[in-house]
Amino acid sequence: TTKMETRNFEADVARLLHMMVHSVYSDRDVFLRELISNAADACEKLRYEAITQPDLLGDDPKPRISIFADPEKKSLTIEDNGIGMNGEEMNEALGTIARSGTRAFMERLEAAKGGEKAELVGQFGVGFYSAFMVADQVEVISRRAGSDEAWRWLSDGKGSYSLGAANIDDAPKRGTRVVLHLMEDALSYTQPYQLEQLVKSHSGHVPVPVSLTDKPDAEPHQITDGTALWVKSKNEVTPQDYTDFYRSVAGQYDEPAATIHFRAEGRQEYNVLAFIPGSRPFDLFDPDRSGHMKLYVRRVFITDDAQLVPRYLRFMRGVVDSSDLPLNISREMIQQNPLLAAIRKGVTNRVLNDLIKLADNDAQAYDKIWENFGAVLKEGLYEDFERSEQLLKLVRFASTTSGDKPRALSDYVTAMKEGQNAIYFMSGDDRTRLESSPQLEGFKARGIEVLLLSDPIDAFWTANAPEFEGKPFKSVTQGGAELADIALTDTQKPDTSEASSEVNDFLAFIKKTLDEAVSDVRASDRLTESAVCLVAPENAPDRQFERLLSAAGR
Ligand code: ADP
Ligand code: MG
Repeated sequence: TTKMETRNFEADVARLLHMMVHSVYSDRDVFLRELISNAADACEKLRYEAITQPDLLGDDPKPRISIFADPEKKSLTIEDNGIGMNGEEMNEALGTIARSGTRAFMERLEAAKGGEKAELVGQFGVGFYSAFMVADQVEVISRRAGSDEAWRWLSDGKGSYSLGAANIDDAPKRGTRVVLHLMEDALSYTQPYQLEQLVKSHSGHVPVPVSLTDKPDAEPHQITDGTALWVKSKNEVTPQDYTDFYRSVAGQYDEPAATIHFRAEGRQEYNVLAFIPGSRPFDLFDPDRSGHMKLYVRRVFITDDAQLVPRYLRFMRGVVDSSDLPLNISREMIQQNPLLAAIRKGVTNRVLNDLIKLADNDAQAYDKIWENFGAVLKEGLYEDFERSEQLLKLVRFASTTSGDKPRALSDYVTAMKEGQNAIYFMSGDDRTRLESSPQLEGFKARGIEVLLLSDPIDAFWTANAPEFEGKPFKSVTQGGAELADIALTDTQKPDTSEASSEVNDFLAFIKKTLDEAVSDVRASDRLTESAVCLVAPENAPDRQFERLLSAAGR
C-alpha cells in the first residue's frame, strides 16, 4: 500500500529521453555499461563513507553487482549493495540533469542543428537515461545505507515518472535495484551468453565483482572478479596473470613477446598495461591500420578505437586507464581531447623506450619482435619524424656483412671505416639481387658495410631520412660516393695517373653517344670488376625510389 506521486521530468531530461528513444545513439549495448558503472560507483561511494562510518557496511561488507535475467518476464535487473538512494536523492538524480557535464551538453545541443544533434548525442555518455534505449519501463528500488526506508521510482521515459515509498520487504537490504522491462527488439539482452560477453568486454574490470543469474531460481555465477589487473603494482601480478589478461585483451592464444606495465603520475595520471603480441595479429596489414588499445576511465571501459598509440605501433594490445578523463566521453569526442593527446605521447614514448631497453638487454627477444613487427615500426620513420632518434635505435637491417643476423645502426656506426662519413644503403626488391649489384664493388673492396634494404617501405623513409648519431644516410646509387677518400683494403690500388687523358677522351665519347639518355658520365672509384654502372645524380632521388614513383605513375 504505497502511494506513488507522479512528477514531470525536467524539460532537459524529457528532451534527452526523447532523443534516446528515437535512437540517435548508435550503440545500444552501452546501457549495460552505464548501469554497471553506476552500480560500481555506488559501491565505491559506500566504501568511502564507510571509512568514517563502518556501521554502514553491517554484515554485508563486500561490494557486489548482481545481474538477473528473466527471459519469460522479459526483464533484466541490475542490483548493487552500494550506497543506495533515499526519495529525495532519487528525485534529484533520476528526474533532473544533475551532472554539470550533461547540462553543458544540453546547452550545446540547443545550439546545434539537424544532423549535428545526433552527432552530439553520440559524443557524450548519457548515463542512467540510456536504459530507455532498451526498456519501455524502468523501475528503480533503492534503500540507502543505514536507512530503514526504501523508495521506488518508476517511468516509461515519456515525460513523467512516479516516486513513492516502497515496501521494505521488496527492497534490497542496502543499495539499488534497477529493473528493465525490455522492449521486444531488445530481448536478446536476456541471453546468458550475450550478457556474459557484454559484461566481460565492457565492464570486465570494474572494481566490483559482477555475477549473473540467467533465469529465475538459477544459481548466480560470477563473471568478473572485480579486480583490475593494471592498477595492481607489478609485484602483485604473476606472469600467468599477465598471460591470461593478454589473451583476453588480445584475443590471441600465444604468449606475449613483451609486457609494459606502469603508472604515470603527476600532471596526468593513468595506468598502462600493454603487450607486444608473440605473433602477428591477422589484421596487421589491413588498410585502415587501426590500433586496438583499450581506453578505460577509472576502470570503466570507454572505447578500443581511441588510437592510443600511433599507427606504427598498432600491433600493441592492452589497456590505458585514465584517472582524469571524464567518464562520459564518447568515441567521436575523444580524439580531440587534449588530455588524450598527452596520454598518447606518454604511452608512445614509454613503449619505444622500453623496446630500446629490451633491445639492449635481450637482443634475441627483441630480434623476434623485429621479425614480426619491424616492417610496421619502420612506418614510423617517415610518419613520426619527432621520434626518429628513438626509432632509429630500434630498426634492424640486413647488410653486406651481417649474414643472417639483423644489424643495428649503432653496430654499423661502430664498424665504420676511417674516412667514412655516411651510412650507406642500397634499396631494391630483392636482397640476393642487391648483394650481387656492381654498385657495391667499390664498397666491398674497401670493406665498407652497405645496408641492403628490400622492404617496399624502405624506399620511402630513406628518401627523407634523418641522421643517425650525426651520420647521414646515403644511397650507393646516389652521385659520386666519396669513396676516393677511403683507403682500399686491397693493397694494389690501380695506378690511374697515366691513363687519365685516355679516360677523359673515352668519357667524352660515351657522353656524346648516349646524349640525352644520361645527365653525366664519370670515372669512378665505386667499381673494381664491372666496367660500368648506373647511378643517380647527387641530389636526385635514389634509383629504387625513382622506380617506385614511376611504377605509381608519378
Ligand atoms: P553519473 O553516473 O555520471 O552521475 P548517471 O545518469 O549515470 O550519471 O546517474 C545519475 C545519478 O543517479 C548518479 O550520479 C547517482 O547519484 C544516481 N544513481 C544512479 N544509479 C545509481 C545506483 N545504482 N546507486 C546509487 N545511485 C545511483
Ligand atoms: Mg553513470
